[in-house]
Amino acid sequence: MAGCAITRTRFAPSPTGLLHLGHAYSAILAHDLASPGQFLLRIEDIDRDRCRTEYEEAIQEDLAWLGLDWQRPILRQSGRMAAYRAALARLAPLTYPCRCRRGDIRAALSAPQEGALPAGPDGLIYPGTCRGRPLSDAGADDVIRLDVAGAFDALGIDQVAFRDAAILPGHDHVLTRDQFLAGIGDVILSRRGMGTSYHLAVVVDDAAQGVTLVSRGKDLFDSTPIHVLLQKLLNLPTPLYHHHRLIRDTAGMRLAKRDNARALRHYRETGAGPQDIRAMVGL
Ligand code: GLU
Repeated sequence: MAGCAITRTRFAPSPTGLLHLGHAYSAILAHDLASPGQFLLRIEDIDRDRCRTEYEEAIQEDLAWLGLDWQRPILRQSGRMAAYRAALARLAPLTYPCRCRRGDIRAALSAPQEGALPAGPDGLIYPGTCRGRPLSDAGADDVIRLDVAGAFDALGIDQVAFRDAAILPGHDHVLTRDQFLAGIGDVILSRRGMGTSYHLAVVVDDAAQGVTLVSRGKDLFDSTPIHVLLQKLLNLPTPLYHHHRLIRDTAGMRLAKRDNARALRHYRETGAGPQDIRAMVGL
């Protein structure tokens, strides 16, 4: 990457609810980390069943109220399906259709083992039942998975690595092929009825938007090796990462969108200002 490249960060909410204090922290941090570079807003609305235009409007209003400004035009993932399809087509030789439902996966995993089932950032580790099925066999209800072992072999690598400015500055976080297979497994690249997945869309869009620093919550740290593997397969640059702390409620629980008491609007309506919000999240 050119040494003179400006820092470009993004805040990438899904419009499935109102922004809360945790989002405010994430957005302000990404905004401040970009300065004097560029801060982008990306609306992650691939899940058409859960996303609502009114939430998208509320998000923009709340961010503007916080005093943030972002580059235009805003990128909406719902308008990017052709780019995701193209990426999926490039990965086609390393993908397979999977018809297993959660119950099938549970049954396949529990047969040989006792106790807790192995799980990773996307839930249960897929046992590979459908691996090897040709894409020509894909049914309308199938998901498309990446053959992760095949991907590592195709790249001729035995690990993926990335830098995290918040967690271990100056050092690479490394995940070996075996750790990836055991802890993540064959990830879904296209969800049922969606034509893409969070992982594929985020990788394609971070590259398309020229994001140089991905600032986001620690809850996504375990997904980052997936993104790095996809960047390598698609020949895209790996940005720097910054996985920040999560804002918790008084009981130590992560804030959720359904937790309306901590919605930014609630604070706004009760007279708080943007500086109060910054103080509340420790900025
Ligand atoms: N859309 C994701 C969320 O709402 C964030 C994705 C990302 O920052 O990579 O949590």
